[in-house]
Amino acid sequence: MLASTVKKFWTGHNGGLMRCLVTQHRNYSNEGDNDLVVIGSGPGGYVAAIKAAQLGMKTVCVEKNPTLGGTCLNVGCIPSKALLNNSHFYHLATSNDLKNRGIEFDGIRLNLQKSMATKEKAPEVAWVGKTEEQLQEEGVVYKIGKFPLVANSRAKTNDDTDGFVKVLADKETDKLLGCHFIGSVAGELINEAVLAMEYGASCEDIARVCHAHPTVSEALREANLAAYAGKAINC
Ligand SMILES: Cc1cc2nc3c(=O)[nH]c(=O)nc-3n(C[C@H](O)[C@H](O)[C@H](O)COP(=O)(O)OP(=O)(O)OC[C@H]3O[C@@H](n4cnc5c(N)ncnc54)[C@H](O)[C@@H]3O)c2cc1C
Repeated sequence: MLASTVKKFWTGHNGGLMRCLVTQHRNYSNEGDNDLVVIGSGPGGYVAAIKAAQLGMKTVCVEKNPTLGGTCLNVGCIPSKALLNNSHFYHLATSNDLKNRGIEFDGIRLNLQKSMATKEKAPEVAWVGKTEEQLQEEGVVYKIGKFPLVANSRAKTNDDTDGFVKVLADKETDKLLGCHFIGSVAGELINEAVLAMEYGASCEDIARVCHAHPTVSEALREANLAAYAGKAINC
C-alpha cells in the first residue's frame, strides 16, 4: 500500500477505527491488516471511510494530496461558495444596496435612522410538530436526532454557525413527530420538515434523500440520520 503520514483518527461508536494516510512518497505500509482501504478523501471517500469505521471496520483512507477533503473542500464546492458569499458582500458594498440599508461610506459610517428602518438579521426559531414536553405528556416513547450548524459546511463557509436542528421521532416506528430549528435560515429549512411530516415521513426516508451540497439543508438530513442510525456522518 502507498503510505506515509498518519493524518487523522476517528473512532466509530462500534469500535471501528479510521486512519487517514497522506501519501507524500511511495513506500510500503507496515501497519498490519485492515478491513477496508478507501482511496481518496473527497466526499465519496471520506463519507465511505467514516461510515465503515462507524460500522466497526478497521478502515484506512489514503490521500495523495497534503490536505484532506478532495476537490469539494479544497477546490470546488466550499471555496466557490465562500467566494460567492464574499462577492455578494462586495456587490452590496459597491452597489447602492448598503446605502439603501442606511450604511454609507466615504470610510464607513452608520445612518442609524435608515439602518433601523430595515429588519435586523438574527437567528430565527422555527418548528413543526410536537415538542419533547408534549411527547412526554402523551407518554410517547421517542428518540432524538440533533445536528449543530457549526458542523455544517455551508454555515461554516458563511461564518453563520449559530444554531442547530433537532428532530423527534417515534422510537419504534421511526416516524417523524417534530422538527425544531434555530439558525439564521430556520424559516427556510422548516419547509422541508413540514412537507416530510405532511407525507408521514420516517427519519430514514429523509436520511436517504440526497441533499444538495453545500447547503444548510444538509443539517436536517444529518439530524435525521442521527435519529435513524444513531450517528450523523459529519458530527
Ligand atoms: C469549482 C467547482 C465547484 C463545485 N461545486 C459543487 C457544488 O456546489 N456542489 C456539489 O455537489 N458539487 C460541486 N462540485 C463537484 C464536487 O467537488 C465533486 O463532485 C466532488 O468533489 C466529487 O467527490 P469525490 O470524492 O468523488 O472526488 P474528489 O473530491 O475529487 O476526491 C478525490 C480524492 O482522491 C484523491 N486521489 C485520487 N487518486 C488517488 C490515489 N491514487 N491515491 C490517493 N489519493 C488519490 C484526490 O487527491 C482527491 O483528494 C464542484 C466542483 C468544482 C471543480
